Amino acid sequence: EAFTNMNLSRQIMKGLAKLGFEQPTAIQAKTIPVALLGKDVCGGAQTGSGKTAAFFIPMLERLLYRPKHVAATRVLVLCPTRELAIQCHNVGTKLAGFTDISMCLCVGGLSLKLQEAELKLRPDIVIATPGRLIDHLRNSQSFHLDQIEILVMDEADRMLDDGFEDELTEIIKSTPKKRQTMLFSATMTDNVDKLIRLSLNKPVKVQI
Ligand code: AMP
Repeated sequence: EAFTNMNLSRQIMKGLAKLGFEQPTAIQAKTIPVALLGKDVCGGAQTGSGKTAAFFIPMLERLLYRPKHVAATRVLVLCPTRELAIQCHNVGTKLAGFTDISMCLCVGGLSLKLQEAELKLRPDIVIATPGRLIDHLRNSQSFHLDQIEILVMDEADRMLDDGFEDELTEIIKSTPKKRQTMLFSATMTDNVDKLIRLSLNKPVKVQI
């Protein structure tokens, strides 16, 4: 299915044009329609498949559908490494470039103080590595995940390989039960399966 048949808003279509994305990749064609409906998604896909836009496009659309009039962090994207989080932030910034959706990158190597100040403004979307996010959750009085509507776990297998299981569990438990969750993983190991059972509710499985 083409982007033009997905009922996307004008602002997002402009973001896609800016990125030069004309046709959806396989993972995008399968994920976007399902995620737009608010369903949980369990995606088997690798880096390079276009999965960043596969979760970003429906995420942004769902934020736009129901604007909030008070600042709140409504989406959390977890990535295994700082580099992947930065890439994800870059794609997201371009896709959302014609909207007023705000985004914050929360990874190691950046000043904790500056990040805390940014998080206090309650950006709509926080893109984080689990370790750094936990630092903020545990040490900041004002940062919390009570208003999260959508949780994305990108490259879940790598986050588990890196030993972030406890952090992920703590983060998931800090978000509302009633939320949309999307999990992507290149491999499906027992640990990933456990994480799926903990975090996803009747997920639609998307494989490419
Ligand atoms: P990802 O798997 O999200 O890291 O994306 C891999 C690469 O594919 C990135 O360089 C993207 O810019 C590019 N890409 C993603 N979706 C599309 C698309 N629909 N059309 C063209 N390039 C794309």
